[in-house]
Amino acid sequence: MSEHSWYAHSRNLMLDNTVVLAGAQRFDVAIIGGGVTGCSAALHLAERGYRVALLEAGEIGAGASGRSGGQILPGLGTELSVIEQSLGHQAAREVWAMSREAVRLTESLIERHAIDCEYSRGYVHAALKPRHERAMKAWRDEMATRYDYDGLEWLEGEALKRHVVTDVYLGGLYEREAGHLHPLNYTLGLARAAQNAGASIFEYSRVTDIARGKCVRVSTAQGRIDCDHLLVAGNAYLGGLVPEIERKIMPVVNYIIATEPLSEAQVAQTLPQRDAVSDANFVLDYYRLTQGHRLLYGGQVSYSGREPRQLVATMQRKMRGLFPVLENVAIDYRWGGRVAITRNRAPHFGRLDHNIHFVQGYSGHGMALAGLAGQLMAETVAGQSERFDLFAGMKHLDFPGGRRLRTPLLVLATTFYRLRDRL
Ligand SMILES: Cc1cc2nc3c(=O)[nH]c(=O)nc-3n(C[C@H](O)[C@H](O)[C@H](O)COP(=O)(O)OP(=O)(O)OC[C@H]3O[C@@H](n4cnc5c(N)ncnc54)[C@H](O)[C@@H]3O)c2cc1C
Repeated sequence: MSEHSWYAHSRNLMLDNTVVLAGAQRFDVAIIGGGVTGCSAALHLAERGYRVALLEAGEIGAGASGRSGGQILPGLGTELSVIEQSLGHQAAREVWAMSREAVRLTESLIERHAIDCEYSRGYVHAALKPRHERAMKAWRDEMATRYDYDGLEWLEGEALKRHVVTDVYLGGLYEREAGHLHPLNYTLGLARAAQNAGASIFEYSRVTDIARGKCVRVSTAQGRIDCDHLLVAGNAYLGGLVPEIERKIMPVVNYIIATEPLSEAQVAQTLPQRDAVSDANFVLDYYRLTQGHRLLYGGQVSYSGREPRQLVATMQRKMRGLFPVLENVAIDYRWGGRVAITRNRAPHFGRLDHNIHFVQGYSGHGMALAGLAGQLMAETVAGQSERFDLFAGMKHLDFPGGRRLRTPLLVLATTFYRLRDRL
């Protein structure tokens, strides 16, 4: 079984003209991080005529963006009530509207730049227990009455089985606005679009130092860039470069397995319409079919960074529990990637200085939002910061315990929710 991701094996785009940064160079804007956030920011800035340099420590898409479940959803990693408590109902409505805009932006970027990334719509939020069903129906009603959103439809019995063929779920909310895609090919497509718009991309160019000032200087092992603005989009992979924001996030490793391609008959008995699905547990499982009919099943997490024992066997057991027809299906790939979670699971937008902005901590819900975050960063550089500032108004607390102790404390807190998932 390969430990490389299925995405890496099925990438359909090699970027031309990416080099390692060398020597001293000057740009209007430098961006740290070649995931969806950084690539979208580079694209939107280059389209506005800025001279942009994107610096990526490895290859484009090497972080979460090229390893994720690929689910494209409106909303955030937290409930809107968290935003309401902090910023009020009106602001929460605006945040919700922007999260829907993020999905539409993803679709329009794919179309406008002809990004070949298997995008398709259709999503099921599945209820395993009566309390999930109650919570989901309450959520659907609240979204309709307080957020004018009627995109959530409760399905059960045969109506649900038209989307997910299992007896395990009590029902589920079908969300037609949400969908899924090949996240690495999407990220590479964004990077290529940014290059076509004039952005310079430097791969294998880890930023090791930031010197602040009217002119910001970022340095790598072999070069440096002086720029007017710096955007930090390194998320869970920053590795200590900017401790004051990294205290607000906890990197957690999340894993995915990929089966061998399923037969038409197996597709018909699992996800006949190729919807994406996630369940309602706190530590949730999620899955979807690729265009070539591999089932990608995700959900195991590691808070220590060490791979859980019996990782593949555990995920296979869960997958077969849902779909007995997959009993003898082989697992061809498994991989993990780092999710940056914040304490309240809301994304963390902000500025380190008047000319240094950052976004991080989408808490497992960033594939769509990161595209919009990149656009909002570009707007901010261009002097229109209202929309960025709405998100930046959210207060974020440090994880207690510092770098050494925050992981054990989080494990303790999460153990409670894992136990509750079993009830
Ligand atoms: C296994 C997994 C499954 C997920 N599933 C989903 C999902 O289904 N739906 C969803 O919405 N979200 C999902 N997420 C979360 C989603 O992938 C992220 O929120 C999103 O990709 C974040 O994008 P980003 O560009 O901010 O960060 P990343 O994609 O992590 O990009 C950051 C980049 O910065 C680079 N970098 C860091 N430090 C430096 C430095 N000093 N110098 C240069 N470069 C640097 C890294 O190498 C990395 O490539 C998942 C995440 C994982 C790991």
